[in-house]
Amino acid sequence: MSTTSGTKIDKSSLPDASGHFGQFGGIYVPETLVTALEDLSKEYEAAKRDPEFQAELAGYLKEFAGRPTGLYHAERLSEELGGAKIYFKREDLLHTGAHKINNAIGQALLAKRMGKKRVIAETGAGQHGVATATVCARFGLQCVVYMGAVDMERQKLNVFRMRLCGAEVRSVESGQKTLKDAVNEAMRDWVTNVRDTHYILGSALGAHPYPMMVRDFHKIIGEETRLQMMEKEGRLPDELVACVGGGSNAIGLFYDFLEDEDIRMVGVEAGGYGIEQGKHAARFEGGRLGVLQGSKTYILQNPDGQIELTHSVSAGLDYAAIGPEHAYYRDVGRIEFAYATDDDVMEAFKLLCRTEGIIPALESSHALAYVTKRAPQMSKEQIIVVSLSGRGDKDVNQVAQLLGADV
Ligand SMILES: *Cc1c(COP(=O)(O)O)cnc(C)c1O
Repeated sequence: MSTTSGTKIDKSSLPDASGHFGQFGGIYVPETLVTALEDLSKEYEAAKRDPEFQAELAGYLKEFAGRPTGLYHAERLSEELGGAKIYFKREDLLHTGAHKINNAIGQALLAKRMGKKRVIAETGAGQHGVATATVCARFGLQCVVYMGAVDMERQKLNVFRMRLCGAEVRSVESGQKTLKDAVNEAMRDWVTNVRDTHYILGSALGAHPYPMMVRDFHKIIGEETRLQMMEKEGRLPDELVACVGGGSNAIGLFYDFLEDEDIRMVGVEAGGYGIEQGKHAARFEGGRLGVLQGSKTYILQNPDGQIELTHSVSAGLDYAAIGPEHAYYRDVGRIEFAYATDDDVMEAFKLLCRTEGIIPALESSHALAYVTKRAPQMSKEQIIVVSLSGRGDKDVNQVAQLLGADV
């Protein structure tokens, strides 16, 4: 297809052999990790072509994770907003409560295939940590999860869930004591223990091959959506919407549709308290090109290249860099981006509980906040699909506190 800037989309050539999406992506890591990443690339390419690996992956996605997830017509929400017909892709119904299990299963099978007995991961809100601890329990792998001390305090329940599954959760006391610092510690561990350890990275971020590999493990979201939409409506949707932290649930939904040029795609970032330095995590609102944790992409940084503070009501979107593939498609005009503020997110969260009986994750509520504004501008004949990336059980305590409720 041709984009607004006239670039032809040929998704099959991305990333290129050096892991670049245009100028974005790449492999910006210490020398000690280069061999590990090359080995991982080779193993992943072999696994991708191996029907046995693919069959095993499909089996666990179905029987353990609960795929396919439903494509659900949100009838009451559509009526309330009075515009486009709204569908939800129900990733919230997966085992452990979010899309993250798709990638965790894929990478755990890869670790097994490589003969690695130890797995490490980083986590912010704890959803990726829980997914990783879960698959490690299932496949008998030793599991260490790095988590910022601040996040451990905010997400105690997820820390306990990880420990129940046998994972060791290591508190990270450096920097802001949140996700970025947890990634730093995980990379340090990997450098030291690379022989027997696989690093299960949790989003479409980091050095090649991670952005590509994580995308591939999630692209089933869009592939199922296409089939289900044809079954239900006999045609493809007009618009796709997903929240974007690193960008894995979004690229998972979008990827299969990138070459369908009539379908609009919108990623929704965290607007936090509003677009003011240090108060949000919307990388396309003031972010600049730079390198962070293995990849060249849009980053919230000051003129000296120091990473800026970020804020979002949802820990899962609270990160200073965006996945390189999103940076590319945004630059060529294929994926558009918007942001939602904490206040709008809370309204959307409450609206969904009330109209549909679904408690969404605060991350997913960013996509919903956009939809509450966008759907009324569209006609009743138009169809919009929202990635409901996770369920809100993990957020109920935080929401109660914000609403001043006594629980
Ligand atoms: C982690 C998380 C996200 C953000 O991660 P992406 O890689 O951008 O998808 C979004 N929604 C939920 C429910 C999450 O747990």
